[in-house]
Amino acid sequence: MAKTPDPSSLPEVVKPSCEAIKILKGQKALVTGASSGIGEAIALALGKAGADVAVNYIADESTAQGVVEAIRKEGSRAIAVHGDVSKEADVLNVYQQMYKEFGTIDILVNNAGIQRDAPLEKMTLEHWNQVIGVNLTGQFLCAREAVKEFKRRGVRKEVSCAAGKIICMSSVHQMIPWAGHVNYASSKGGIHMLMESIAQEVAPFRIRVNSIAPGAIRTAINKSAWSTPEAYNELMKLVPYKRIGEPEDIAHCAVWLASDYADYITGTTIFIDGGMTLFPGFETGG
Ligand code: NAD
Repeated sequence: MAKTPDPSSLPEVVKPSCEAIKILKGQKALVTGASSGIGEAIALALGKAGADVAVNYIADESTAQGVVEAIRKEGSRAIAVHGDVSKEADVLNVYQQMYKEFGTIDILVNNAGIQRDAPLEKMTLEHWNQVIGVNLTGQFLCAREAVKEFKRRGVRKEVSCAAGKIICMSSVHQMIPWAGHVNYASSKGGIHMLMESIAQEVAPFRIRVNSIAPGAIRTAINKSAWSTPEAYNELMKLVPYKRIGEPEDIAHCAVWLASDYADYITGTTIFIDGGMTLFPGFETGG
């Protein structure tokens, strides 16, 4: 029988507390997969920083509505928008709903992602296609629509020096191979080149495109890697900073990267991993 972990023996949750400054006031943001984990934290942080936020979700409408309510409490506008990022018609519909409510887009956070793990010989084509479809094709479809609008509208000086910003959620597995997860690692490796190629193509239009590559962050996607003391201690062997990352660690960077404080940054991947990529060549969990 599986051991039930004693919650008091799990390590303390470290949520960095940073004052929210309204550096994104007047900007309109879309965050995909924003009803949980990293996407939820980013949507909340963008809202706290003054942006109006479209909270995309695929499954859990009530949780997405909870995120919307929390953003509204911070004084920003927010809507929940249903849509599967791997389906072109859904993506077009998400953007239509967003434009109906907010008129335009300034910030896209391409966050939605899934894992369907199996050893190579047991990995089905369906699981391969699902992961590539959501993690890579989904980012392409959402970025394409955002770029159309950024180019059509151009820079609004009163809002930002850039015509638009895209943040792609990658992973340390864009550079660390991950045995048993070849679909996921391939999708994140693909995001690396997708992001850099789009960044190069659209830079002359004052559109900035960057990636964040998280290490192990405490969310549902990698629960087995942190939910027991044994698993957590094992994970910490890979993390020089000796704590798991929290979704807020990613969200704070996303706010800054979307803001004019980061105006000269494009085509870059920021690793947020407590030093994990300082030791390449091991398994992680995200
Ligand atoms: P999560 O499972 O909480 O978040 C993923 C979100 O994507 C969920 O809200 C899910 O409903 C949504 N989603 C799934 N399929 C979708 C689809 N077809 N259309 C729209 N939304 C969809 O896990 P998370 O850790 O918050 O993951 C967020 C992103 O961060 C993912 O891209 C993941 O690969 C990446 N990441 C996470 C970690 C980590 O350690 N947690 C590490 C590296 C990268």
